Amino acid sequence: MRVVVLGGGFAGLAAARRLAKAPLDVVVVDQRNFHTFQPLLYQVATAGLDASDVAYPIRTILRRYATIRFLHARAQAVDVDQRIVHLSGGSGLSYDYLVVATGATGASFGVPGVAEHALSLYTLDDARRVRNEVLLALEAADTDGADGDPGGGRVLVVGAGPTGVETAGALSELIDVAVRHDGLHLDPDLTRVTLVDIQSRVLPGLDPRASEYAARALRSRRVDLVLGAQISEVTARGVRLADGRELCAEVVIWVAGVTVDGTLASTLPALTGGGGRVLVRGDLSLDGHPEVYVVGDAAAVSPRRVEDGGPPRLLPQIAQVAIQSGDHVARQISHRAVDEPTAGFVYRDRGMMATIGRRAAIAQFPGGRIIWGTTGWLAWLALHLVYLVGFRNRAIVLVNWAWRYFKWPSGPRLILGDVASRPVTSLSAQDPIVDRDAVQQPDRSTPRAGPAPGRR
Ligand SMILES: Cc1cc2nc3c(=O)[nH]c(=O)nc-3n(C[C@H](O)[C@H](O)[C@H](O)COP(=O)(O)OP(=O)(O)OC[C@H]3O[C@@H](n4cnc5c(N)ncnc54)[C@H](O)[C@@H]3O)c2cc1C
Repeated sequence: MRVVVLGGGFAGLAAARRLAKAPLDVVVVDQRNFHTFQPLLYQVATAGLDASDVAYPIRTILRRYATIRFLHARAQAVDVDQRIVHLSGGSGLSYDYLVVATGATGASFGVPGVAEHALSLYTLDDARRVRNEVLLALEAADTDGADGDPGGGRVLVVGAGPTGVETAGALSELIDVAVRHDGLHLDPDLTRVTLVDIQSRVLPGLDPRASEYAARALRSRRVDLVLGAQISEVTARGVRLADGRELCAEVVIWVAGVTVDGTLASTLPALTGGGGRVLVRGDLSLDGHPEVYVVGDAAAVSPRRVEDGGPPRLLPQIAQVAIQSGDHVARQISHRAVDEPTAGFVYRDRGMMATIGRRAAIAQFPGGRIIWGTTGWLAWLALHLVYLVGFRNRAIVLVNWAWRYFKWPSGPRLILGDVASRPVTSLSAQDPIVDRDAVQQPDRSTPRAGPAPGRR
């Protein structure tokens, strides 16, 4: 009996590992030959870690399991009636059971200009692109500063969920390192990080006390918060808000949310819920196709069974839900293969975490207890080390963070690729750093008037 698992992310790998314990032929298919540890992508984007520190070859992860094969291919479509997955290159892969764990992708929410002018942060490639653009903006700001008229190097992060908060905090630390250790001449009033969100508080999914702590910690790291602000357009100069204000920036990082629309899972014959997530039954199988399971970010996973009626309360698209749902469906398939009864999915909440930077993180436990500060940071660090794949990666990340604990500079602050065709000056010194009225913290400088040509 063959089980095909589409996707080698948290959900797909959890399913495959559990399936290895049953007498089944398991094929894991992924369009990339490596597993990405998405929770640390922001560290790659902010030059804290290298790309290879947060990724690991899927073949190496699975090599110890004799019954699992890995196929490096893109799944183009699923014929659920014929039970065949159509792969890139035209070949087909038949299955008895199918686990769809193809994740999600960045969502633009229909805001014009996101695809053209903003950088997403969902894949390793995205993270490397963000790192390049941020470092280029800082170099350009330093070049402008050489004649005594310092430039901008402004970075705008859209989305104040955990990824946005972590990215903004890490960017402020990167700027600090760039000035203290790399000798860049940056005007602290012009080279700024701004975090924008439509919600009125950062980390809206966490307890309000956690939001307050995170906002304080971000401001103390010189991150400007623009909250309750709806972005109507992303432009070459930054973003335009629905109320007409404009926030200028050399780099716009868009981490406002994710969607399943446009991914393989969205082509399955099933109803979809919020963010294009595929509606599944209580055991995470497809309605009408009990041999097809959808797990992780791709699925509208509910702690309540859909067939019990009423709108399902969806679980967040986080690693724990992905791991537990992948593991659950593997157990069900193993049971069904030997005609044993199956069970509905029950999620065990392990809490939520977010870090703001060195010695500042929040861990919110299921009972509502919150720890923060250095204790929260150490808890966050320990948890990420446990889930990171590969001994070498764990060792490198641990050394890197220990280094940072002492405020020593670390991380690959390398601009890769050819920059010969780029303009040397940004002219951004002519712009006001942001629309000062929009920034919820005291003014530190006199805004400069003038046109903003935009560099990106
Ligand atoms: C920047 C960022 C930071 C995050 N931080 C946290 C955090 O701190 N804590 C937390 O709990 N969660 C975090 N998350 C969310 C968490 O990473 C996801 O919930 C989790 O990765 C979902 O796992 P998944 O297996 O469903 O999908 P993914 O991990 O996205 O894996 C999907 C896999 O499917 C493959 N794939 C997709 N389409 C195809 C196709 N057509 N054919 C073949 N292969 C395909 C992809 O290459 C990928 O390997 C973060 C996410 C992001 C993007």
